[in-house]
Amino acid sequence: MSITRKWAAKKQRALEILVRLKKLYLDAPCTLNYATPVQLLVATILSAQCTDERVNLVTPELFRRFPDAVALANADLAELEALIRSTGFFRNKAKNIQAACTLLVKEFNGEVPRSMEQLLKLPGVARKTANVVLAHAYNINAGVTVDTHVKRLSYRLGLTDYEDPIRIERDLMRLLPQPDWENWSIRLVYHGRAICKAKNPLCGACVLADLCPSAALPIIEGNN
Ligand code: SF4
Repeated sequence: MSITRKWAAKKQRALEILVRLKKLYLDAPCTLNYATPVQLLVATILSAQCTDERVNLVTPELFRRFPDAVALANADLAELEALIRSTGFFRNKAKNIQAACTLLVKEFNGEVPRSMEQLLKLPGVARKTANVVLAHAYNINAGVTVDTHVKRLSYRLGLTDYEDPIRIERDLMRLLPQPDWENWSIRLVYHGRAICKAKNPLCGACVLADLCPSAALPIIEGNN
C-alpha cells in the first residue's frame, strides 16, 4: 500500500475511534474546578504528577486566599507552598505559579493570553498545559493535549510510532479534526483509566478492539 493510502486508512481508523469514544463517553468536560482562566492555568500547573481530584481538594482554599494573578504574584511564597503541598513537587509548582502570575500582571494585564506562543513564555507552562487552558478557558483548539494516557493509547492504537509527546501531538493533529482535538484527549484519558490501563488493558471489554493493532499482542491476551 502506498504511503498516501496507508495514511488515509489510518485517518479513517482514527475517525472511527473518535466516533466510538464519543458514544461511549458522552460528555468530555474539564475535571478541574476553576472560575477564571487564571485559576484554570494554576489548577493545570498543579495537576502535573497529581490527580485532578487532589487538585480540586486544594484549590478552594488556594483561590479563596489568592483569587487572581495579582494576589498570586504577591503571595507569601511559604504560605503558597503550604496551601499546595499535597499536590507534590510543591516548591517548584509554587515558584512557577508565582513567576507565571508575575508575568501575567506585567505583560498581559493580569489575564491569561489567548495564544500558544504567548502562553509558552510563562514559567512552568509547556504545550500540554497551554492546550488545556486554551481549549477550556477560550474554546481554542491549538493542539492535542498529550498526557501519559494519550501517549500510551495513541501508541497502542497505532496512530503514532513516536514516544515523544511533541511528535505524538503532531501526528494526532494531522489525523483528527481540529474541533475534536481537546475532547479526544479527555476521552482517551477516560478510556485509559477504565479499560486500556497501563499494566492490565482489558482488551476483551474494549469497544476499540477490532480497530486496535495492539489488541492481539501476547501481553494483552495474558492479562485478560
Ligand atoms: S484493544 Fe486493548 S490495547 Fe487496544 S485500545 Fe482497547 S484495551 Fe487498549
